[in-house]
Amino acid sequence: MFRDRETDTRKFTSGAGLFPGDKALPVREAYDVIMSHLPAPVAEKVPLMRSLGLVLAEDIVADMDMPPWDKAAMDGYAIRSADCQKSPTELKVVDVLPAGKVSKRAIGAGEAIRIMTGAPVPQGADAVVPVERTRGIGDLVHILEAVPPGAHIARKAEDIRTGDVLVRGGSVVRPQEIGIMASVGYHAPKVFRRPTVAVLTTGDELVEVDKKPGEGQIRNSNAYSIASQIAAIGVPYAYLGIVPDVAEALTARLEQAMKAADVVLLTGGVSAGEYDLVEDVMKSKGIEIIFERVNIKPGRPMVFAKSPDKLLFGLPGNPVSTFVTFEVFLRPALGRMMGNRLMDRPVVDAELSVNFGKPQARDQYCPARLTWVKDRYIVAPLESHGSADLRSISQANSLLMIPAGEGPYPVGRVVRVMTLDEDQQMSGVMGA
Ligand code: AMP
Ligand code: MG
Repeated sequence: MFRDRETDTRKFTSGAGLFPGDKALPVREAYDVIMSHLPAPVAEKVPLMRSLGLVLAEDIVADMDMPPWDKAAMDGYAIRSADCQKSPTELKVVDVLPAGKVSKRAIGAGEAIRIMTGAPVPQGADAVVPVERTRGIGDLVHILEAVPPGAHIARKAEDIRTGDVLVRGGSVVRPQEIGIMASVGYHAPKVFRRPTVAVLTTGDELVEVDKKPGEGQIRNSNAYSIASQIAAIGVPYAYLGIVPDVAEALTARLEQAMKAADVVLLTGGVSAGEYDLVEDVMKSKGIEIIFERVNIKPGRPMVFAKSPDKLLFGLPGNPVSTFVTFEVFLRPALGRMMGNRLMDRPVVDAELSVNFGKPQARDQYCPARLTWVKDRYIVAPLESHGSADLRSISQANSLLMIPAGEGPYPVGRVVRVMTLDEDQQMSGVMGA
């Protein structure tokens, strides 16, 4: 399913040549170009509890058998089944074994040992009788039914054998994997390191969230939505504030950002306006611009650049564009930098609830609500006023994908829909 998902994103190509002479890359191509420039994931050892959500860079191998011995699977009495072929049988209780204690004595004919779940079955015993099927009388016990050999004993190594590979390298660590690693002593598993991201928002018109915007000003929402998107995949970030549309200021802050993190994410300042300085500043610093336009709606101006050991992304300033381009490109890219190829949002087929869409020169990602009705997905496009309409994206749980040049679609048509909600994400073992 996840490999399909990856293919899904890539299959979503756009019609080329709709902007003659334009260098906007089709979504699929831009995606591939970004993925091909990512540095290889770096492995490091971390304390067990810091590995949650990361990808294992090593196989987890059992250092012991589980169970390590034949153990009682129930609270009851360890007995010799040969003694208990008729019922009831009366046995003498010669010892009590809590979990964690090993009996010093073997049981002989006519004897039983009180045993708790998890305790090693004492020598001489070949079955355990649950306490519910016994009656204790002083230091005697009545076994109320016949007992077959082997009853209620979990055999040594029946779950895990020393040397077994329990979790393959490449798997995402979930609570289950934490448990199994703890059981075989991986207190510092080797995982792929998380990349670090520095976030910069550009724009003279921006004020922070705790300020009332003055004339001509709006609040900076991108910094917070992007930071949340980064945090949602467990990647650490540093927010470096609002940068004015002044080349010197932007240059200084960009230098700071490149020192601070592996990936620099800027928003705004990448359109064709006079104060859109991001690309110029990057070029003046000798940073290689790999592409500057993607044929995506919302989006299009989107800069991808690289200095020897840093990746830089200039995302469009409009909040919905910022959000969507992060989901489509940045989420998978950051995922892969930490060895996780499953970070692409799942794409599903869904039936349109209404007539929808008009052909555009760009691949469209339209805010929508996806619901599972009886036996299939139904997708309802949301009213949207475009790339600044944050409310539409907040109401959305998915993005309806319309390839460039396609549409309008009739009600009932099956379309591709990118899901956005975390609880639809899954994890598992990675493909090659
Ligand atoms: P730009 O790409 O800088 O021309 O910005 C495009 C649009 O997005 C403009 O209307 C900006 O005011 C708006 N915008 C840019 N940055 C932000 C931000 N951080 N938060 C909210 N809106 C923004
Ligand atoms: Mg701007």
